[in-house]
Amino acid sequence: MNFLKFGAVVLLAASPSFASGDVHWSYSGPGGPEHWGDLKPEFATCRTGKMQSPIDLAQANTAGQIPVRADYKAAPLTILNNGHTVQVNFPAGSSMTSAGREFYLVQVHFHTPSEEATNGKRFPMVAHFVHKDANGALGVLGVMFEEGAPNSELAKIIAAAPKHEKAAAPVAGVTINPADLIPSTLNVYRFQGSLTTPPCSEGVNWHVAQSTVTASADQLRAMATIMGNNARPLQALDGRLVVAPAN
Ligand SMILES: [Zn+2]
Repeated sequence: MNFLKFGAVVLLAASPSFASGDVHWSYSGPGGPEHWGDLKPEFATCRTGKMQSPIDLAQANTAGQIPVRADYKAAPLTILNNGHTVQVNFPAGSSMTSAGREFYLVQVHFHTPSEEATNGKRFPMVAHFVHKDANGALGVLGVMFEEGAPNSELAKIIAAAPKHEKAAAPVAGVTINPADLIPSTLNVYRFQGSLTTPPCSEGVNWHVAQSTVTASADQLRAMATIMGNNARPLQALDGRLVVAPAN
């Protein structure tokens, strides 16, 4: 009797309906975006959140000029692949000021294609510059890449990017200047949103540059080959304010 009971418990534990906690999040299949909110209790906001990212920028419902300035400095290249994206970490020294509020650059990572869209159209790639303010609040600057002239800083990232999951490591003798990965003019879309990956935490101060930068077809292909499709589907606006550049 006891043996039978034990056997039943083992079978239940091994059945697929009990295995969701073991499914790692991804961009397709059982761990895909439509399941993120159910994979772990701490991912619930991915399903229940009302201020989720990314969004379609064509849904902007007001216009205004948000004063944004990036004060980015060259730094030694430290790069990682977390299995979802290629990411460059930055030491203290680079910052973004948005409407008088200062955010410090922590890392930049990439998505192919872009997560943000305009009327459903995505760019081949977006860079997300992730900043924190003095209280730990997140401020992100999104910069879209389109095909054109090669980007010198992206070339360094591609040359150093681990092809598979690998912890952060410095790249000897290589510096990277994040200022060369953003447009010279920062007219931004501004809205409140979330992380675009689990746990989809909200309270992220989103900025998306209206101007794009370029990368060569080879560079865009190289990034897409390393990362695969790592763009979360567009999320509902749910009545949020989205400010478009007033220009
Ligand atoms: Zn991102």
